[in-house]
Amino acid sequence: MKNLHQKSETYLQMLCSQIADRSVGSEGNRAATRYFEDMACSLGWDTETQEFDAMDWVDGGASLRCGDDSFRVNVSPYSLGCDVGGQLVSASSIDELERTNVTGKILLLHGEIVKEQLMPKNFVFYNPEEHQRIIYLLEIGAPLAIVCATGRNPSLAGGIYPFPLIEDGDFDIPSVYMTEEEGSRLLPNVGRIVQLNSKSRRVPGNGYNVIACKGKESGKRIVLTAHIDTKKGTPGAIDNASGVVVLLLLADLLRDYDGNKLIELVALNGEDYYAVPGQMLYVHQNQDRFQEILLNINIDGAGYKEGGSAFSFYGLPGEMENHAKDVIHNFDGIVEGSAWVQGDHSIFIQNGCPAMAVSSQWFTDHIDSQEITHTPKDNIDIVDPHKLVEIAHALDMFIRRI
Ligand SMILES: [Zn+2]
Repeated sequence: MKNLHQKSETYLQMLCSQIADRSVGSEGNRAATRYFEDMACSLGWDTETQEFDAMDWVDGGASLRCGDDSFRVNVSPYSLGCDVGGQLVSASSIDELERTNVTGKILLLHGEIVKEQLMPKNFVFYNPEEHQRIIYLLEIGAPLAIVCATGRNPSLAGGIYPFPLIEDGDFDIPSVYMTEEEGSRLLPNVGRIVQLNSKSRRVPGNGYNVIACKGKESGKRIVLTAHIDTKKGTPGAIDNASGVVVLLLLADLLRDYDGNKLIELVALNGEDYYAVPGQMLYVHQNQDRFQEILLNINIDGAGYKEGGSAFSFYGLPGEMENHAKDVIHNFDGIVEGSAWVQGDHSIFIQNGCPAMAVSSQWFTDHIDSQEITHTPKDNIDIVDPHKLVEIAHALDMFIRRI
């Protein structure tokens, strides 16, 4: 037991402190997947990696000027850089964007049209028509650059304010974003010439999913997932080093597993990256094999220092759900939590697999208001390593009963 607690702390330290940045495409991200692979391997699991292309991004900073006034702007993640001058035009709705000639100008988006982050153009799992329409109008309108004045939206953008309206390495019009307040200051300058300089830079790179396997029967798979990547600019302790730590603790607890299922521990890579490359690749490689998956258990947001751990269920066969509920009763710190969909379990649900999500009650209760994830506040101090050990024990017990 003591041993596992120490390991829980060591794994967390390694993923959040020693490796500074786990964003997809970065060297830190590759160091994290190598670490996961080495650990699983040393614990006697068969490991496999799936490689994909993924660019890294260097912010570089940006400045926006109009006459003698300057405005505070942030570079949209994965944007191309620019050094352009042009007339400022604005749009606050899709209708207004449709009516406005933006070609060769600098476009300020504000108000209604920037209420939520636009889904990346090639993101297939969820992509509202409204978002696709906005992207289409921007691409055919071809402004020199886009300035987005955004508000707060914790449920979709995490705790970030202002949030980047556009975060998409497949979208090639340079963009920056600013607070609503800066947007109100900039708006009266519509019609005047503004200068935007952005040193944003894309860097070619790659990344890996890591799959650790144990067991005999490949036709009956239990797939445990935790995304190993982070947004840039956060240690990503609860989102989602803690999930990866649970997988590694399970690699320990299930070392001797000799049941009739195939257990897969998967460090998925890309949940917080615009193109979700690891998830896309995993889906592609399992296209005709989802019916083999008896259950997905996805761990994301687990181990928050306050409150209990929350297990939630999605389409489990009756007997399996009863087992899960029985197991929960053996652990003081675990409760059945409410359903949520903003995680990789939704990929399995969409492909017809039963799924279970493991998170923290505090997070699922505050999913629309918390301001921690995707920010520097998501650091090692908010995770209780003991809770991760408890979760691992519960999952170990549950898996052996299936
Ligand atoms: Zn996450």
